[in-house]
Amino acid sequence: MSDCIFCKIVAGEIPCRKIYEDSDLIAFHDINPVAPVHFMIVPKEHIVSLADTHARHEMLLGRILLLAPILAKEQGLMDGFRTIINTGPGGGQEVMHLHVHIIGGAKPRAM
Ligand code: AMP
Ligand code: ZN
Repeated sequence: MSDCIFCKIVAGEIPCRKIYEDSDLIAFHDINPVAPVHFMIVPKEHIVSLADTHARHEMLLGRILLLAPILAKEQGLMDGFRTIINTGPGGGQEVMHLHVHIIGGAKPRAM
């Protein structure tokens, strides 16, 4: 999608602090971190939000969740992390390309 900031990152048109990439996924540090470690895992396919996923995304969604603890450990989060998926305007989603936030390194606020 031509005006999507995460598609531009996937295409290499906008720089990012990349920590992981394969044929389906990319992970990079959030530009405005809310904790000492804050990165996100993003499918390369332009999927607007979790509300726009279908059965064909089952493997992709599973791969994102399996990758999360691996990258979290690599980033030094040895005792856990928070995983957030904001979905749609009502869920506080600002970038309309599905992404999973991984946040840690500071004591999280109870939810
Ligand atoms: P959300 O509210 O879940 O849509 O979060 C979007 C996130 O994308 C925010 O935490 C932003 O700080 C982050 N963000 C926006 N632009 C960039 C960028 N160019 N590189 C890295 N993170 C970004
Ligand atoms: Zn996109």
